[in-house]
Amino acid sequence: MLFGGCAVNSFQAPTGTRDILAPESTRFKTLVATFANLAELAGYGLVISPMFEDSSVFHRGVGEASDVVAKEMYEFDDRGGRRLALRPEGTASIARAYVQHRPQLPWKAWYATPAFRYERPQAGRYRQHHQVGIEALGSNDPDLDVEVINLLTHYLTAIGLERMELRVNSMGDSTCRPAYVDALSRYLGANESQLCQEHQRRWKANPMRFLDCKKPDCVDLKSGAPRLSEALCIGCIEHLARVIEGLDAIGIAWRRDETLVRGLDYYTRTTFEVAGLALDSAQDALGGGGRYDGLVSQLGGPATPGIGFASGIERVMLALEAEGNEKNVTQVVKAFVVDMTDGSAARDLTSELRAVGIGADRAFDNRSLKAQMRQADRSGAYLALIVGPDEAASGEVTVKELRQPTDRLDSQGSSIRVKRAEIATYIQELKL
Ligand code: AMP
Repeated sequence: MLFGGCAVNSFQAPTGTRDILAPESTRFKTLVATFANLAELAGYGLVISPMFEDSSVFHRGVGEASDVVAKEMYEFDDRGGRRLALRPEGTASIARAYVQHRPQLPWKAWYATPAFRYERPQAGRYRQHHQVGIEALGSNDPDLDVEVINLLTHYLTAIGLERMELRVNSMGDSTCRPAYVDALSRYLGANESQLCQEHQRRWKANPMRFLDCKKPDCVDLKSGAPRLSEALCIGCIEHLARVIEGLDAIGIAWRRDETLVRGLDYYTRTTFEVAGLALDSAQDALGGGGRYDGLVSQLGGPATPGIGFASGIERVMLALEAEGNEKNVTQVVKAFVVDMTDGSAARDLTSELRAVGIGADRAFDNRSLKAQMRQADRSGAYLALIVGPDEAASGEVTVKELRQPTDRLDSQGSSIRVKRAEIATYIQELKL
């Protein structure tokens, strides 16, 4: 049967989006929780802002010359005729929120949000992906850059990633960048016919994007291009030197990457990115960010420096998988109650265990012992707690070990009888 041109039974998530179900979603949640914890340990507070904004927030805040705005934004008129856009990234909304509420500076914020970009979907590139990120507004201090970079690398290490590389660069500032962009523009103008097709058309809008173009024609031209590192002013050189001194002092490995220019127009000075070395290089960015000066004033606030980063959750999950590390998920349901009476034991025992913080699950519908044991196994629980007529009569529970790490059961075999009244304490002492 057709309904609105679509077979009723065949709805799918829109192209480029996906449903994240358990256990993958458990990993997702762990990443966000780990990030939240580290951000809050460093004094960043959560900001929850709307998923859509007046589209000008992104046109001004992200910049017309960026792909994100020019080609990828989900923009629409609402029923009241307002021009809105779904958030393609997190930074512009945080800056808008700052301008609106003017919290005391320095203002340190973290967020976790979906981001929407109309991209060509492929592995690691979606039309809705999710990001965690931070922004710190109100200070030019290079030690803040170190704090921010440290948070990104600490987070990625804390969730178990090993194969990654931190790349750092300086994009210059309003003192030195204009002269560099002039020199670069002259070079690109003189060599226009040798640029990749896209940059032949677009280089004038944002000449520095040429530096991170991966197409062979542009890559070949790079060796003869003016070098940004040689054009930096003394202020930018000193800033970068202090950042690098800080990274070295706290033991963060880094590599200078002169091609690292962020796609967005408002970045100045420090830019950085962490690449996942286990991922395909076209989609290997685990997170990246940098310092920006003009963003807050673009959105109507006073000139306010800032720095931040965002890290893609799906991308990080792919990297964990590529490193063979994706199984690292805490098993929350520890015990599965198998009830061969009338279901009352399962009802009462699960309630009792959950009340003291022990993850517990059960089957419903009076299923057979075999079916309940199969479900117990699928749940990932370490223990089956079996209550049949026998156990019910003697006020006991049979505890059967389903999988490691329960080889600490103190019986000779893999199951043991425990008094019903002592079962919660017994499980707690196993420290599963
Ligand atoms: P960006 O704002 O482009 O620097 O993106 C921040 C992070 O989000 C990147 O480092 C990636 O980890 C991730 N990311 C960006 N675009 C996508 C996408 N289309 N699909 C999945 N992850 C993405």
